[in-house]
Amino acid sequence: MAQLDTRQKLAILADAAKYDASCASSGTSKRNSKGGKGIGSTEGMGICHAYAPDGRCISLLKILLTNSCIFDCHYCINRKSSNVRRARFTAREVVDLTLAFYKRNYIEGLFLSSGIIGSSNYTMEQIVEVARSLREDHDFRGYIHLKTIPDADPELVRQAGVHADRVSINVELPTVGGLKRLAPEKSAQRIEGAMGAMRGSIDDTADARKRFKSAPRFAPAGQSTQMIVGADAATDGDIVAKAASLYGRFELRRVYYSAFSPIPDASAVLPLQRPPLMREHRLYQSDWLMRFYGYRPDEVAQATDAATGMLPLDIDPKLAWALKFRDRFPVDVNRAPREALLRVPGLGVKAVNAILTSRRWRRLALADVARLTVSIAKVRPFLIAQDWRPVALSDRADLRPIVAPVQRQLELFAA
Ligand code: SF4
Repeated sequence: MAQLDTRQKLAILADAAKYDASCASSGTSKRNSKGGKGIGSTEGMGICHAYAPDGRCISLLKILLTNSCIFDCHYCINRKSSNVRRARFTAREVVDLTLAFYKRNYIEGLFLSSGIIGSSNYTMEQIVEVARSLREDHDFRGYIHLKTIPDADPELVRQAGVHADRVSINVELPTVGGLKRLAPEKSAQRIEGAMGAMRGSIDDTADARKRFKSAPRFAPAGQSTQMIVGADAATDGDIVAKAASLYGRFELRRVYYSAFSPIPDASAVLPLQRPPLMREHRLYQSDWLMRFYGYRPDEVAQATDAATGMLPLDIDPKLAWALKFRDRFPVDVNRAPREALLRVPGLGVKAVNAILTSRRWRRLALADVARLTVSIAKVRPFLIAQDWRPVALSDRADLRPIVAPVQRQLELFAA
């Protein structure tokens, strides 16, 4: 490897990290350096959740320790057979960079991942050493997210949770067949085994902290994972089922969906075209239906097309479900329980909470609901208000085009 200076390494290793979407940083515990103790904070302005257009999370130093790798995952630009320029940081260099960026107010934390160098254990040791040194040698109290290596020794993976706010282990692909074909050196069993062990450690710590306030924290922002969408033949139904199973078994904080984007020097087994970005968006919406709207995974799957197993791209999954199950509507906004209101297309969690509060004092008319939603045209066929009953509208055969968002052609030379 040619001798590179820090700036050159940073350019290579920050660019190589942009393919990982799982760096949002919600849900960690509050820590700060008030009173002159330590440096860094997860509070105040908070951790920024914004992403740059190229996928980087703006407020975290998001880098790889190295983009060299002994594995050859077909979808990865850093795979062994890829012809990219390689670079490698030492653990000490990452620590120094993080502290220097933090002190300049460029970042609020660190997201660290790595290709596998030497062995999984050696690489994991280096990753853990960065977090250990930041926490123990420098009393760093900012946010740390570590990507862990499922093949590494379980004790090393556990050490990551001792120092990091969030840990993640990527499942990579939604089906075992897809993983075997595109990442032959990885094992679904080992990946899920590592997630299960992480879950166990998080639970044990939570129990200990209930009994002893002084018990050390362990990955307070939980664990997350990422699935690549569109690199294999998995349908949206497969992806939703996989996500639901991961949430259920490992209580993940988040599953991230990353639309596969063709990489330079791509492997011949990969599709030539990226899936529409809207597909990724629809999967995030279906994820929200399960996490915040009370839909069971099989209900979300009902929103997919029976022939293709894919979610529609022109309408959101909640609307697709409502159009399929018209007998569940209209819902009376003045009487229906929360669960039924959450199923009304166009009503979000905030709107439903506002409805439940307001109707304690008075009966709501359609205009009251209109003030809580972006499109009353989308909501009207699915609810009853004091002065509104949709009558035949709910049963119309052509309801879909009436409630679907209007597709607009963008002007090429618009000012
Ligand atoms: S192990 Fe990670 S870095 Fe290495 S080729 Fe596979 S996805 Fe890329």
